[in-house]
Amino acid sequence: PPVTRFAPSPTGALHIGGARTALFNWLYARGHGGTFLLRIEDTDVARSNPENTQIILDGLRWLGLDWDGEPISQATRADRHAEVAHQMLTAGKAFKCFSTPEEIEVFRENARENKESTLFRSPWRDVAESDHPDAPHAVRLKAPRDGSTTLTDAVQGDVTWSNDQLDDMILLRSDGTPVYMLAVVVDDHDMGVTHVIRGDDHLSNAFRQNMIYDAMGWPKPVLSHIPLIFGADGKKLSKRHGATAAADYQKMGFPAAGMRNYLARLGWSHGDDEFFTDAQAQEWFDLDGIGKSPARFDLKKLEHICGQHMAVMDDAALLQELESYLTATGALPLTERQQKDMLAAMPHLKERAKTFPDVIEKAHFVLADTPIVPDEKAAGLLDATAQQYFTELTPHLQNVNWDRTTLEEAVAAFATARDTKLGKLAGPLRAALAGRSVSPSVFDMMLVLGRDETLSRLRAVSA
Ligand code: GLU
Repeated sequence: PPVTRFAPSPTGALHIGGARTALFNWLYARGHGGTFLLRIEDTDVARSNPENTQIILDGLRWLGLDWDGEPISQATRADRHAEVAHQMLTAGKAFKCFSTPEEIEVFRENARENKESTLFRSPWRDVAESDHPDAPHAVRLKAPRDGSTTLTDAVQGDVTWSNDQLDDMILLRSDGTPVYMLAVVVDDHDMGVTHVIRGDDHLSNAFRQNMIYDAMGWPKPVLSHIPLIFGADGKKLSKRHGATAAADYQKMGFPAAGMRNYLARLGWSHGDDEFFTDAQAQEWFDLDGIGKSPARFDLKKLEHICGQHMAVMDDAALLQELESYLTATGALPLTERQQKDMLAAMPHLKERAKTFPDVIEKAHFVLADTPIVPDEKAAGLLDATAQQYFTELTPHLQNVNWDRTTLEEAVAAFATARDTKLGKLAGPLRAALAGRSVSPSVFDMMLVLGRDETLSRLRAVSA
């Protein structure tokens, strides 16, 4: 079974592109009975920080992308990375390079002048150990000097590079610390990674990493370099296009299932299917379905898909996720009564909702403190005539059966007796019960609130 990994660098928040990379790796592992690992690439100490790691883990948790085992910190594995470099040295696949930064700069300047490749060719590559000075040195890999390298990528197809584009890359710096490129390969190997799915901005790295696999004689993972995500203007998605952090979408209140569905469609397709469940995505997801050209991020599509997920989500699950959303925004936890009423109202609340704020707006009649303070629009509907209606209507609702048919009949009969229309009463009733113009229907609210609360709200605005 496959082993995949998501390997974020904690140098910033979890980007939408990173979230999609994580999702593809998760889908592939989950759909093939494999393992999905998480590796935090925190070797760049100056730019990495634990807060970012936390933000990334939180983002993955929010998206429901559960990983197997503990996250691995790359920085803690530096000794192992160095050990592998020394193995390559012993095997003659790498060499000690005593060139100083100044010498390398001189080499580059000369190369530029002579219009030759500026890739550093170390004079130490074939110098015997006995001729080595006792001086600080880097460890460099012996790159192939001629021919070409072809990598077979599950997304990009065969990609060929002339080997004269490969330099004798540094494995260990002169202070003995391993370079990032080495760390990635050693970790992927040690973690048993079989499939590397990542952004195509890493494609050129793959050629360097490939040399390390060759030098060590290690089995190579299947590579899938996925095109980056673009904005509507066809340029790489960036802040200019709006929100780029996964957490921004969490704050906007998109349901995680809709987010997963939409992100899966960014660069991957299964026929014409736009809307699907996690189970379907896991069953269908395959590397063949990943497109070669960049997908464009489209907020409208995201909203549309999230709306579809809201509609089919189990009410209790939706409430639970909505409560996490509320907690994340710093709101007070729901009371038991609010939970009960929310659950009862959910079939109406989730209608046409795309985000949790949509649900919350409609749920004002449950969530607002009582007595209800009407907003301006609602207050306008609660005029003297309306107040008089309520005074007369409440006694009629005192003893009727509290079911939809009876309530509808009672209010309709009252309207007829007052020579008015049910529609004329609905606005003021909504204003009295919800204090807003956005809410479920009047009778739906009455049923959720129950007799006592309904009458108390009507009395509060009676003449
Ligand atoms: N740490 C790299 C990044 O955040 C990913 C490296 C990889 O997937 O090999 O872009």
